[in-house]
Amino acid sequence: MIGNILIVDDEPAVLKLLKDILSADGHVVRPFNNGELALRSVTVEVPDLIMLDIRMPGMNGFEVCRRLKEDEQLKEIPVIFISAASDMEDKVRAFQEGGVDYITKPFQKEEVIARVKTHIALSHSIQRMKKIAETLRISEESLKMALSIAHLGHWELDTKSGQFICSEEMYRILGLEPEGSMANHDAFLQTVHPDDRERVANHLSGVVAGNSVDIEYRIILPGGEVRVVHGKGEVFSLGTGRQTKIMGTIQDVHEPDQTKMLGIIQDITEQKVLLKKLEEQANTDFLTGCASRRNFLEHAGEEFLRIRRYGGEMSILMLDLDHFKNVNDSYGHQVGDTTLKKLVQVCQGLLRDVDVIGRLGGEEFAIMLPETGSERAFEVAERLCQAVAVAEVPLEDASPLHFTTSIGVASLAEEDTRIDAILNRADRALYKAKNTGRNRACV
Ligand code: GH3
Ligand code: MG
Ligand code: MG
Repeated sequence: MIGNILIVDDEPAVLKLLKDILSADGHVVRPFNNGELALRSVTVEVPDLIMLDIRMPGMNGFEVCRRLKEDEQLKEIPVIFISAASDMEDKVRAFQEGGVDYITKPFQKEEVIARVKTHIALSHSIQRMKKIAETLRISEESLKMALSIAHLGHWELDTKSGQFICSEEMYRILGLEPEGSMANHDAFLQTVHPDDRERVANHLSGVVAGNSVDIEYRIILPGGEVRVVHGKGEVFSLGTGRQTKIMGTIQDVHEPDQTKMLGIIQDITEQKVLLKKLEEQANTDFLTGCASRRNFLEHAGEEFLRIRRYGGEMSILMLDLDHFKNVNDSYGHQVGDTTLKKLVQVCQGLLRDVDVIGRLGGEEFAIMLPETGSERAFEVAERLCQAVAVAEVPLEDASPLHFTTSIGVASLAEEDTRIDAILNRADRALYKAKNTGRNRACV
């Protein structure tokens, strides 16, 4: 290996000899006859190796070496000390001062070449290793940061030793102190919600058996807070040939069959809360707070299927406010909105918990009455008409507003195969109520 070598010696003959030997071997050589000049030169171009005479007038070799070791940029340059005689004291001191080697004059050409070669190669490997270690450190830091941003914790189970290792983020998610809180995966299972524990334990056994796992489960933090996590796990073989670079540095080559289970958990509580909020929004009518059209039809459809399977009765009421356009035109849209809210309040006051009221659109509502036959449904509809008729919407500068609704009633019939059949009949009954004078219920 060819290197850039700096030689410092006050004897011109020694300088020339070393320069000739090393140049002939292909190295780039920079000779200096005193320490100060040499020190100035190293900062300009950092050499791969320095050969340094110990005894020199002015700054001696040990002093030059000390200066080099004090400088972050220069302290890694290997220094080989040169001494006139094989002086034991110098030899010991040379290593104490941070030299990597020591040669005595007169030189043996082959020895000089061999030692220089060795130290340049060593220095290159050390530099490469440092570079790799730094790259690794940076990528580990980035990974750690990415995992932390993603709220991803990571664990490893060594199936052979049973050792269970968790990442910092994993501890953060679990709300635990990293020091010694989780010696094994049984301790980890204790953090899982009791209702989910068996399922998680089964999945963990599945991973040991070689399955990939992808589950959601709840954990309980030490303070009692319940969080939802997404867990993934997989077995990785660390046998020779299949190992990855990063893992290779920790692999025991004497155990080619050693396996590790690697897993991650992700804290998705926020996403779950957001999802629930969005679902609630989609299921609720924003103005009146009753069920949305989508949600009402879903409920009605489910009830229809339930009754088709297990038997029973159900009825649907279809409501439409009377002359509602006039309300808007005379009192404004705001009062119209208040009227719609009032209608829902009045209905909810009279209905049972199992009944569902939904806004189909505009000023049209529907009510599903489970376990209710047509006669009872008609009674409910009439009572609703009466209650709506006496309800009041307060007005700013006038006596309260009264309003009425028409209601169409329809009940489940033998031949109905879809909920739409009942809804259509209720719609036709509503039309009849409108055509026969409004403020009434029709079947
Ligand atoms: P009918 O007795 O025949 O049902 O007469 P109507 O005036 O109630 O019937 P129409 O369907 O012509 O008018 C319905 C009105 O309801 C028109 C529309 O502006 C109003 N409307 C629909 N949705 C809303 C709402 O969210 N707020 C308010 N304030 N008005 C609404
Ligand atoms: Mg209408
Ligand atoms: Mg109307």
